[in-house]
Amino acid sequence: DSIVSLKAMGKVFHTKNGDVRALDNINLDIKRGEIFGIIGLSGAGKSTLVRCINYLEVPTEGDVFFEGKGLKDMNSVQIRNVRRDMGMIFQQFNLLSQRNILDNVCFPLEISETQNVGSGKLFKRMRGVLKANARARARELLKLVGLSDREKAYPAQLSGGQKQRVAIARAIATNPKLLLCDEATSALDPKTTKQILDLIKDINKKMGITVIVITHEMKVIESICDRVAIIENSKIAEMGKVEDIFANP
Ligand code: ADP
Ligand code: ADP
Repeated sequence: DSIVSLKAMGKVFHTKNGDVRALDNINLDIKRGEIFGIIGLSGAGKSTLVRCINYLEVPTEGDVFFEGKGLKDMNSVQIRNVRRDMGMIFQQFNLLSQRNILDNVCFPLEISETQNVGSGKLFKRMRGVLKANARARARELLKLVGLSDREKAYPAQLSGGQKQRVAIARAIATNPKLLLCDEATSALDPKTTKQILDLIKDINKKMGITVIVITHEMKVIESICDRVAIIENSKIAEMGKVEDIFANP
């Protein structure tokens, strides 16, 4: 049972200086519940690949299928709903610096719950209720990532590992089915990296969220991934179970 399938997916960027091919004939089936790794050198096409999965970039060939449905055939509302099922975390955390961490985690909840409410007096009151619900949910999430005592802190007051915990809480706030991690531990020291990887693994096991991990670091793949694809020059060079691909001779 696959949650995401990429079928003959390719991406060419058209630039002033000519065409740049970032992805070439990518075929992948991500199984529900697994932690799937994508490893490759800088420039191989990893970021473009994850950005195509949630249609931040639109593939120029082939397509992405989420739970069997092709994104190319979807309208913008349907794409928005698919995106709500995909949380994402980044190397640079991408937190909102002007909001405290509770409000950072509330942010996606406010967007997803208030956009259907409209405006007017009654709706204003409903928004108040939704906001209270969002805060309660955000507090649960901060507890899950071990930051209950820091809800009033601003991102700048936190360590890198703490910031990534906030980003994880925010990414899973809307109960996504898939978590996309783009070099999520590349800015962290080895000890903090291990803690964040343990948290991601925990979320995968306890909440049943499928995880896709993009990295240039073998140790990240070895410590949490079930399967891995090696990407080289825009193509998948090898794919399989981690223990088979990286078996020591
Ligand atoms: P990685 O994440 O593995 O470092 P990227 O997906 O960022 O690789 O990049 C793959 C290739 O696509 C590189 O040659 C890069 O320069 C190119 N590329 C990525 N994004 C763009 C863009 N927006 N415009 C033009 N070229 C791009
Ligand atoms: P990463 O290595 O993590 O993929 P990059 O520094 O390659 O990060 O890319 C950062 C941003 O710049 C991305 O949004 C990517 O799409 C864009 N980008 C990358 N390469 C190019 C390029 N050759 N031309 C234009 N934009 C690019």
